[in-house]
Amino acid sequence: MKRFFAMVLTLSMLLCGCEPKPLERTFFTMNTVMQFKIWGKDADNGYGRIITKLQELESSWSATSEDSILWQLNNGNTIFQLEPGQAALLDKAETLSQRTGGAFNPKMRCLSEAWGFYNEQHRVPTQEEIDAAMADPQWDLGGALKGYAGQKCAELLTDLKIDRALLNLGGNVQTYGEKPDGTPWQVGIQNPDGGNYVGIVSVTGTMSVVTSGDYQRYFEVDGVRYHHILDPETGYPADSGLRSVTVICADGMTADCLSTALFVMGLEEAAEFWRQNGGFEAVFLLSDGSIYATR
Ligand code: ADP
Ligand code: MG
Repeated sequence: MKRFFAMVLTLSMLLCGCEPKPLERTFFTMNTVMQFKIWGKDADNGYGRIITKLQELESSWSATSEDSILWQLNNGNTIFQLEPGQAALLDKAETLSQRTGGAFNPKMRCLSEAWGFYNEQHRVPTQEEIDAAMADPQWDLGGALKGYAGQKCAELLTDLKIDRALLNLGGNVQTYGEKPDGTPWQVGIQNPDGGNYVGIVSVTGTMSVVTSGDYQRYFEVDGVRYHHILDPETGYPADSGLRSVTVICADGMTADCLSTALFVMGLEEAAEFWRQNGGFEAVFLLSDGSIYATR
């Protein structure tokens, strides 16, 4: 009898094409608004576990909280033991920094602070202040953590056997699982000037789609825009002719680090990096309005 009811239910869902509704939630953490859609009977539990995970990651890896691991490292407290996963995260950030020739630099905390990006007290620092900040390498995983977090959340959902999910961690999108009708997930690429999306990226399965742009955090002085992605060579906001870079990669942290690094590199160097390394796809929005994409 039970089986009969289940069959009728499945059949009627197929006939009316009804898609089960996801659990939809919005939450503020890691200094950004996050939106979650989770499908499956354990969605509530999945959401709760995701929030716990995100809060745990934020308190461990915040560059500004005095309780964080980074704060201890930055303040010379080396007498504590990192868990293997924590050490691996720092190693991976170092490796990605080397791979990108330093364009991704996870030790520019003082520089971001000098530009006022931590306390929203934005200002153009003097050259002396920039030099001093660059001479003091301190950890900041702001360019990697949301991608890493998305990936960790997807792993968590696998353990809970959640059907599928769409996690938007402040512009870092993590898809998880397959849609039942087999169609791809569609992730919009924002227009840097607001308004409609400039395009849609279609991905299947579990994937990270991460965008870095000059329109996410910035301030203006005398008509000049100063944004939060800093060029480790100059100490100034990267001025590479790009408005945004979107990276699509199965590994969330790699996607996040690369979106930041490719933005610093600019189109030519980024395209060469893609040719040499592969393992990801990317979409570039240029300042002149043109759009380039890898295959
Ligand atoms: P968002 O965090 O807004 O999604 P990004 O992933 O591009 O954007 O990361 C930008 C953040 O990374 C900055 O706010 C700063 O904390 C840090 N950052 C800035 N420039 C760099 C860089 N060249 N390499 C690594 N991290 C950077
Ligand atoms: Mg990034």
